Amino acid sequence: YLVRVTANLDLGDYLRIIAGEGNDVKVHFDNGVIVSGEEFVRMQLEDIGAVILIGVMDGPVNAYHARFATPKHREVMLADSTTCTWKGCNAPASECDAHHMVEHQHGGETTPSNLGWLCKYHNSQAARGTRGHTERRDGQITYVSPYGNVTATGTDHKARADNRKPPD
Ligand SMILES: [Zn+2]
Repeated sequence: YLVRVTANLDLGDYLRIIAGEGNDVKVHFDNGVIVSGEEFVRMQLEDIGAVILIGVMDGPVNAYHARFATPKHREVMLADSTTCTWKGCNAPASECDAHHMVEHQHGGETTPSNLGWLCKYHNSQAARGTRGHTERRDGQITYVSPYGNVTATGTDHKARADNRKPPD
């Protein structure tokens, strides 16, 4: 028998916590318990029940149940990029938000394939809709300018896969 409680957590905070950078983050459970990010990591997710992730721009975006592979999630995002994915920005992922490239209200899901790092400034620029946006093309995160110019800003997974193939 498990007591099911829910933690409400900003998605950016969540990713910082699982990266071991969430010591100053407070996690609020719906039963009134508040723990630090560090304590949260030590808790068994199976005992929590659900983690509701709340995006800065789009409110509650998803609820994950116990078996959500948390370190994997960030690992996958870091495989896409270790910096902000806006053109010309090198803000490190540790200072970035997990941005939904397809917004939640347009059907975008909180899955690694739809997430890319954006620093706070560029996340706000993306939200304006007139300064360009980021999207995935052939698996690679790109910045698309308001004029439609595409600049690759994320890892080229296809090229990496091709390099790993044994020579003919
Ligand atoms: Zn940026």
